[in-house]
Amino acid sequence: MKEGSLEAPTRHPIDWKNPEYHDEPKIVAEMERVFDICHGCRRCVSLCNTFPRLFDYVDGTDTGEVEAVPNEKFWDVVDQCYLCDMCYMVKCHTSAASVDVDFLTSCLPQGAQVRGGR
Ligand code: SF4
Ligand code: SF4
Repeated sequence: MKEGSLEAPTRHPIDWKNPEYHDEPKIVAEMERVFDICHGCRRCVSLCNTFPRLFDYVDGTDTGEVEAVPNEKFWDVVDQCYLCDMCYMVKCHTSAASVDVDFLTSCLPQGAQVRGGR
């Protein structure tokens, strides 16, 4: 989908029955990958509280890099997501295979883990 068009965005199937979907090291690695791309872009900062929370954590590090944010903080970031889908509609890099970003989908398993653990 081209940015600004009226086409519905294509959502890839969520492979939620795959055990890897709940594999915490892989979840954290994917969060770090997506968060790093979003940190470099910051376009979605005004959509909700999720992105500002992430960027505040990044900006609070000495290096200003996502890798310097303690992984425990990631759970707090995704816990801000209420799955509204606005960031998916922005369709920033989501159509570029080289930087496949679907922030919401990245939040789903993490959010389930965070909320399920409470
Ligand atoms: S979801 Fe896309 S547009 Fe939004 S901040 Fe991340 S990279 Fe940028
Ligand atoms: S889906 Fe989540 S991260 Fe994306 S805009 Fe909505 S609340 Fe924010």
